[in-house]
Amino acid sequence: MTDPCPTGHADAADGELPGSVAVVGAGVIGAAWAARWALCGVDVEVYDPLPTASRQVESTLEAARAAWERLGLLSRETGERSERAHAVALGEVILTSEVGDAVIDAVLIHECVPERVKIKQAVYAEVEAAAAPDAVIASSTSGIRPSELQAEMQHPERLVVGHPFNPVYLLPLVEVVGGSQTSELTIERAMGWFNAAGMAPLRVRSEVDGFVADRLLEALWREALWLVHDGVATVAEIDDAMRLGFGLRWAQMGVFQTYATAGGEGGFRHFIEHFGPALQQPWTKLTDVPELTPEFIATLITQSDEQSGDQPVAELCAARDRNLVDLLLALEANDWGAGRSLAALRRRMSAAG
Ligand code: NAD
Repeated sequence: MTDPCPTGHADAADGELPGSVAVVGAGVIGAAWAARWALCGVDVEVYDPLPTASRQVESTLEAARAAWERLGLLSRETGERSERAHAVALGEVILTSEVGDAVIDAVLIHECVPERVKIKQAVYAEVEAAAAPDAVIASSTSGIRPSELQAEMQHPERLVVGHPFNPVYLLPLVEVVGGSQTSELTIERAMGWFNAAGMAPLRVRSEVDGFVADRLLEALWREALWLVHDGVATVAEIDDAMRLGFGLRWAQMGVFQTYATAGGEGGFRHFIEHFGPALQQPWTKLTDVPELTPEFIATLITQSDEQSGDQPVAELCAARDRNLVDLLLALEANDWGAGRSLAALRRRMSAAG
């Protein structure tokens, strides 16, 4: 059986690639957007005031190339696309010293600066002073409403949220959210470009804080913090409870489909009849957030350091990428979930070559 995939977005990969892309803010997310576009053959101009930004961009590009090689999208020897994919050169990534130089020719501009409304709005003013009036500005914000972000813009209709997931060069999901002033054309253009980059854009139907994914993640994160706070489990025990159990399910089926399978032959109907009443239990309504006192933060950091041993973050990221690549390949072989996005990207690259 293959994934019935009712939302359909995993099969796309058919939009046009953008002519040129700019990235403003080259931290974890900006550098990874740059890498995904470059691997798709698109030139990217990047601006970040931090002197160490070039290091971040280079190391992310290196990690992304290694991951795409293991996916079979690039040949190991040359770093060019393999014959299974297409032969066009990789895009160039160029760092600029002025924001205006980065955005002047771009049709798509990713804003990836810190999660503060004021910083983002100041960046939009700088970007708009140099960018073409119809260039699309896609904010990577994790949860700020686009209506708030676009409030002071000259051309607010071009602002859209394109919320990706780390590492952006491997995970296909990007949440697309329009604000009250965002034009339908902006949303369509952004969705087409993300499709062309092998991503699975999910258009969020209405504008809410945190969108879809971070609302879910925050709920889990809040409970995880309470469990450490109350001494019920350590950081490592909580992560094991996830990755050795229900987390393993979630890469291939979400919460609803998983619960349909948990209902036995009666499927979701039986599940909701059986477990629905448990939603009245007190533990299903825990919504307060533990106070992040210095002592609690120190506990979290100590336990997190113990969990990772002496493995540096770069090694953890490399392990994460290796595991994700193998998961994606397995899902592709089963024609399922995120594997379908990968298959669509592979087809697209082969057709272009
Ligand atoms: P980061 O701290 O790694 O990078 C932010 C970068 O912005 C830094 O390199 C900084 O020098 C640069 N910057 C600061 N002011 C700037 C300015 N005025 N002009 C240009 N660059 C500037 O942060 P990040 O994790 O990459 O997050 C960026 C955005 O992506 C945030 O909105 C965040 O919510 C969102 N996001 C993050 C993740 C994640 O897992 N880290 C996931 C999805 C979305």
